[in-house]
Amino acid sequence: MPAKLTILIIEDERSICDFITASLTAQDYRVITAHTGASGLSLITSQCPDIILLDLGLPDMDGLEIIRRVRQWSPLPLLVISARTQEKDKVTALDLGADDYIVKPFGASELLARIRTALRHSQRLATDSNDGQTFCLEGLTIDFTRRQITKNGEPIHLTQIEYKIVVHLARNNGRVTTYDALMSHVWGPYVDAGNNRIFCPGF
Ligand code: CA
Repeated sequence: MPAKLTILIIEDERSICDFITASLTAQDYRVITAHTGASGLSLITSQCPDIILLDLGLPDMDGLEIIRRVRQWSPLPLLVISARTQEKDKVTALDLGADDYIVKPFGASELLARIRTALRHSQRLATDSNDGQTFCLEGLTIDFTRRQITKNGEPIHLTQIEYKIVVHLARNNGRVTTYDALMSHVWGPYVDAGNNRIFCPGF
């Protein structure tokens, strides 16, 4: 069974959060929620979501600051959902690296369509950078589109974080990758004064 895609909602209005959560879980997404910017940033690095839905008017920080920080280390899909309708707000969010901007109020169908579009786009980028939709080596197969891993045809069940570690190693197959690069890819910004290295000699 493919791993469910995880969507993080950073939104302080509980009613909107509940509405989006219900719409997404009905479509078999895994949903996690944060009601402040700080907890949102924490969940981004601890839970490694596949996509972020971000409100801009948060109680402890402006959502634009979250876009700025995430884009320092990750291309992960990020959709703004905001009541701000001014063109300059949209332009600023998009220029900072948001993938889309949805104005409240919005319907569930529109939100789901935009999420699918953002995920298709990010999967296409991941596939392009990997020169194919699958990685195969000595009986191990990774289907990046379906997020499935098999060994000699048998499915291997991994946690979200384990999956991301394996994908990172596969994409760096045969190359040396640093401990920091692995940490940063999986958990976000990471500081380590050491010089540890992980070698991926054909896995
Ligand atoms: Ca708000």
